[in-house]
Amino acid sequence: MAPVENDRGSRARRRAATLPDLSRYGTLAEYNRKRHFGVTPEPAGRMRGGGEAAGRPLQFVVQKHRASHLHYDFRLEHRGVMLSWAVPKGPSLDPSAKRLAMETEPHPMDYNQFEGVIPEGEYGGGTVMIWDRGVWAPVVGDRLGDADDVDRQLAKGELKFVLLGEKLSGSWTLVRTRGERQWLLIKHRDAHASDEDLTVTRPRSVVSGRTMAEIARAAGATPRQLAQAESTDPPAVRAATAAAAPARRTTAARRPNRGRAAVSRRA
Ligand code: MN
Repeated sequence: MAPVENDRGSRARRRAATLPDLSRYGTLAEYNRKRHFGVTPEPAGRMRGGGEAAGRPLQFVVQKHRASHLHYDFRLEHRGVMLSWAVPKGPSLDPSAKRLAMETEPHPMDYNQFEGVIPEGEYGGGTVMIWDRGVWAPVVGDRLGDADDVDRQLAKGELKFVLLGEKLSGSWTLVRTRGERQWLLIKHRDAHASDEDLTVTRPRSVVSGRTMAEIARAAGATPRQLAQAESTDPPAVRAATAAAAPARRTTAARRPNRGRAAVSRRA
């Protein structure tokens, strides 16, 4: 099993390294280039009508993702796609904590519903949880902005916005610090600022209520992926869920493809 996975992993990396960046051919071209949609349960990238045009609030989502390293994918809807930043430590409610946020390729809006396991060897292989979701709006001075304001602020490297999620709320900013892709995610001082670490106190999915280990187990993750997912759950919930389902874990580990198919149907 392991040599095959390693081979697939290096093939995926070679492919990503040798093919050109296609983002100039469309906002989601880079997203689609990196993925094999016959293998991964993730949705293929299709453009949707943006909330700007439809007059509905813009969506945001934060997905906890145990890929080669744990990070939280912070995504903001803009012009029909989800602009994306990978935040290794996750968002902080503490205004003095500046969290590194590496800009990644825009994701399709369908991705906001994805919770499950990306197979070993595929791009971003590992467990994904919908950690938070809600709506957002850009801020210009003391009023809410529009899509043109977002374009202007992104070009300038300082995006100011408000979130209304189940875990994250209030006023935030993304500031570009270095190069094209390195940003900091910072909470503004307001009524929603706090020293509470939500990655520890609110570790479960806002959609399914599951822990990372429970998501991995249900999707038939490999034993290695299950162990990695479980290691990112805070000790308190880890102890509770490990005691709850030892039999299901054995079953899932023995039949990796069954769970994967189930996720594909759901997603
Ligand atoms: Mn990710």
